[in-house]
Amino acid sequence: MPEIPEIRAHAERLTDEFRGAKLSSFQPLSFTVLKTFEPRPEAATGRPLEEVAAYAKYLLLRFGELTFVVHLMQGGRLKPDSKQSKKPRGGLARWTFEDNTSLLLTEPGTEHRAGVWVVAGHPVDQVPINKVGPEATSMNPHQLLELLNSNNMRLHGFLRDQRLLSGLGRRLSNEICHRAKLSPFAMTGKFDLATAERIHVAVTEIVEEGLAYDRGRAEMSKSADRPSAVHSRVGQPCPACGDTVRTVEYRRYTISYCATCQTNGKALADNTTSKFLK
Ligand SMILES: [Zn+2]
Repeated sequence: MPEIPEIRAHAERLTDEFRGAKLSSFQPLSFTVLKTFEPRPEAATGRPLEEVAAYAKYLLLRFGELTFVVHLMQGGRLKPDSKQSKKPRGGLARWTFEDNTSLLLTEPGTEHRAGVWVVAGHPVDQVPINKVGPEATSMNPHQLLELLNSNNMRLHGFLRDQRLLSGLGRRLSNEICHRAKLSPFAMTGKFDLATAERIHVAVTEIVEEGLAYDRGRAEMSKSADRPSAVHSRVGQPCPACGDTVRTVEYRRYTISYCATCQTNGKALADNTTSKFLK
């Protein structure tokens, strides 16, 4: 799933290409893609696209007072659509502009989970964004410490929990734990300020590095292409120390870590649950 760096770089790319284009129509191509009834999307017709902004994992297409909030979920993409075919493969929604350019939201497969919300006013205070926590990059070390201490759980789960902190997913959580030299299973309840500061630095650095990488590309990177020290690198040497990158496997995701850098050399095993239950 695209995380803060990919979403931000993509928002910049779309702003560069579409800023000022006046909306001629918004067309849902699937019955379930539009998640709101009011305001109607037609209310944005004739208005120029001011910018595409980013908040956590959301893209925000701003047309003055109205904003289309888009969540790509796992494999969704929002791209310029030069073909404008009637039934585009995986097509969920299309924004067409008066200059005859358009943007197409697609998601492969049959289980369509990507969505579009139309909101009036400040989108951060409204569904769906008001359901998620503050963007991970917006926290200072003291705020982060308070949040860590008041939600005693494993660090990796904490970082991925969008209700607490938004915009980080599996890859960045793996990378942040590794950069901060903390076990993904470390319990957050008793972390001290120095530990929160390490996590803060790691979040900042990892997001900046991802952003620099994705800004250098013509379109959003694929998960497998994104630079990483431990994520998707099981069996390979840790770039920091040379130890072999290890994993704890779950059905829906994999925790990757370096035992030398993060766990005093100990291999992690999840004793709290069978590996296919979680
Ligand atoms: Zn290492």
